Amino acid sequence: MEPSRRIRARRAASFASVTALTLAVSTSAGTGGLTSGSAGPTGPSRAPAIRPCILQGQTGLQMPEGIPTPTGYARSTGVVHALNLMIDFSDAPGRGSALSRFAEFFPKTRNWFTTSSYGRLDYRPEAPITHWLRMPKTFKEYGIERGAPFDPGYRRLIQDIVTAADPHVDFRRYDLLNVLVTPNAGPSALDTVLSVTFASNPEAPVADGVPISNASFIYSRQDDGSGSYSRNGYRVLPHENGHIFGLPDLYTQEGGSAVGHWDVMSEDWGADNDMLAWHKWKLGWLDDSQVGCATTRGSTEYTLTPLARRGGEKMVFIPISSTTGYALELRTRGGNDAAVCRPGILVYRVDANVDTGEGPINVVDSRRDSGGCTHSPNVQAELSDATFVPGETFTDPKSGVAVTVTGTTGSGNYRVRVTRH
Ligand SMILES: [Zn+2]
Repeated sequence: MEPSRRIRARRAASFASVTALTLAVSTSAGTGGLTSGSAGPTGPSRAPAIRPCILQGQTGLQMPEGIPTPTGYARSTGVVHALNLMIDFSDAPGRGSALSRFAEFFPKTRNWFTTSSYGRLDYRPEAPITHWLRMPKTFKEYGIERGAPFDPGYRRLIQDIVTAADPHVDFRRYDLLNVLVTPNAGPSALDTVLSVTFASNPEAPVADGVPISNASFIYSRQDDGSGSYSRNGYRVLPHENGHIFGLPDLYTQEGGSAVGHWDVMSEDWGADNDMLAWHKWKLGWLDDSQVGCATTRGSTEYTLTPLARRGGEKMVFIPISSTTGYALELRTRGGNDAAVCRPGILVYRVDANVDTGEGPINVVDSRRDSGGCTHSPNVQAELSDATFVPGETFTDPKSGVAVTVTGTTGSGNYRVRVTRH
């Protein structure tokens, strides 16, 4: 059984209607609030040199790769307060303590965000209710399959969670909600992954005057039986919370073959992985000064520092149009990247006109049909050796772009030469 092929069943539900969002945001004034404005770098004045690389997302997409992320999602930098509620049902009573369910995800998820964001996201998980919150209906009665907030079952469930928690929780204090469902409710993750996120949802039920519009629901355990659950099983939560910060799914109907294990929004089973530099820039974890925008005709040299290491230039972006371009970054083993088997320059195409789950990002495979270089369970193998190493060149004749990895430096950085015709 290959779980990654089943993850495709899961999806992010986002309803970013502009008019409705205005309403949702205006109700969340004050401290925190489960809709806290826009994510990522949005400053009014950005240097002219970087602007051609700030891809514009098409309006009307659910979750575009464009920058900035639309308003309504949770803030992705600074202190973010995450409310965690552990729920169970009379037909699926929680086994063990609710706090042990919480401990499956924390502090690992907080640490993952600290590492990936270079300390820019200070993720504060809180569990003000330390016992299982028993829902008034059975799990079966809610009819949870894969949900959208318009499904009556989900509306009912969210409303019942709010009602049960409200006497003990001030929802205004929080930026997002994680519902950690008892793992014995519903099918095994090997059969169907039910975990889902409702992000930027203006139709959400209201608690303490704020709509619960950014909520991740985590079901079952992503345990493939390899014995890795205690190390890696938490990784569904960074993925689901990624949606809360406005990131789209990178896996497609074909599974993880578009991006492989290079981003947690592509694969959240198996060994730890990080996020693409494009996503880190979108989330505000990289400054404009850490991005080289390659617009000049002729050849330009850049030096990239490992993405896993704090500081330095992390991405070169080569814009092809106002909505597409190629990104280059240096991936090595380190930080959240535990399974990199061929360190080198990763090249991928970003298309801000392609929606979540339809392949907005595609990694260029430097070694097609090689079978890859990893045997790590649940790591998409073929793209694991997709990187370009010194002496290798990527060319896209159609757009007149060539990228050559010209060498390394003593400190582990890589040099690349970008040529535009
Ligand atoms: Zn997802």
